[in-house]
Amino acid sequence: MIVLKFGGTSVGDAEAIERTAAIVKGRLPRQPAVVVSALGGATNQLLAIGEQSAKGHLIGALRGVETLRDRHFQECEKLLGTSAEASEVAAEMSASFDELASLAEALSILGHATPRSFDAIAAFGEQLSSQLVASFFKLREIPAEHVDARDVFITDDDFMSAEPQTDAIAENAREIVQPLIAEGKIPVMGGFIGRTASGITTTLGRGGSDYSASLLGAALHAEAIEIWTDVDGMLTADPRVVKGSQLIEQIRFDEASELASFGAKVLHPNTIAPAVRLGIPVFIYNSRNPGGKGTRITVDAPRRAVSAIAGKSGITVLQVGAAKMLFARGFLRRVFEIFEKNGVSVDVVATSEVSISVTIDDPAALESLVVELASLGDVSVERDRAIVSVVGAAISEDSAAMGRAIGALDGIKVHMMSLSATGINLTIIVDGDQLAPAMERLHNVFFGTVK
Ligand code: ASP
Ligand code: MG
Repeated sequence: MIVLKFGGTSVGDAEAIERTAAIVKGRLPRQPAVVVSALGGATNQLLAIGEQSAKGHLIGALRGVETLRDRHFQECEKLLGTSAEASEVAAEMSASFDELASLAEALSILGHATPRSFDAIAAFGEQLSSQLVASFFKLREIPAEHVDARDVFITDDDFMSAEPQTDAIAENAREIVQPLIAEGKIPVMGGFIGRTASGITTTLGRGGSDYSASLLGAALHAEAIEIWTDVDGMLTADPRVVKGSQLIEQIRFDEASELASFGAKVLHPNTIAPAVRLGIPVFIYNSRNPGGKGTRITVDAPRRAVSAIAGKSGITVLQVGAAKMLFARGFLRRVFEIFEKNGVSVDVVATSEVSISVTIDDPAALESLVVELASLGDVSVERDRAIVSVVGAAISEDSAAMGRAIGALDGIKVHMMSLSATGINLTIIVDGDQLAPAMERLHNVFFGTVK
């Protein structure tokens, strides 16, 4: 069996759901189980309804409920028309929206919403979309069966980012989902949502549907997991920055994680870890371009010197110079303790005889960091820097690639550079306005036609 996950844009409207049905239909022989997100944007709207209610802005909140209700009913009508399914789904949706409106009222009276309330509200998105999609599939002769995802995905009670209980999930998947597949049915369920052992609705955190798909795939030992989204896959560079970026057809999980930490928005690799760890390949495909090759993510894809060029601007570099202190025992510990105490995570570190330089990408705690670091040595702050990263599992073993990377930066001022022996990237800090040229040049050297 395989798990097919469709994100918000792949179920965003009737046309998208039509494309999704065609994709599922083409894969019926592989025994898919389907996981869907809420209609694109619905989760944001639901959370906004929660916030407005909690502030006592009931009219605004109810207007939000109406907007969502209209959208769902319109799509339902476009998809299901006057079929028998249509009235059944409409009745269920109607009850859901009434319940949502009552919840909004209750929260507005309380003037307060807890994470648990937000989960109760947010869960409507996936419940509604999965019911709609399952009914439409039936109309398209896909033997779909809606499954309430909360019956499968048992979590702890850390609302809004609940921890899945993998043993219970595996058991439920075997008891509820597997038999459907064995009967030739196509289970369709919402991602993102779950419930505690005592039955309270939870969510896995934003973007959690990928996580659901991965957990389900792991529980059922799927042959593959396909994440259907609105981009062709992972690219050799951000196409908004670098012209001519190309699809990466195969990438290692650790490289994909590295790219995600640079803001590659395709998916958060932590969410697919449960499946990838079991050796289940995860594919990313574009539901608008279903014939595309997609990106295959596995733990053991070939180790390349360079798989992609990533970059991030808005970086602050902090330098602590302490000629006398640097080699005193415990100096680095004291420096990092200050970062820890301020809750700031450090991205890149470079040390020299007389100083240590670190980068941070959230300058919120900068002032207090500077004050505290000043007790250890001279502190300097450089704002508006950028990180450029040459990502490749074998970069540190390939001296020719290293040479080409450094050669490509000829004429660009480099402030810091870092490479670890086991690392999967060469990281370079440049001026903020040099981010695009640096990425372009590096990309050209490794992926361009002009080498
Ligand atoms: N609908 C949820 C969100 O927008 C979960 C997901 O789409 O993955 O965060
Ligand atoms: Mg998503």
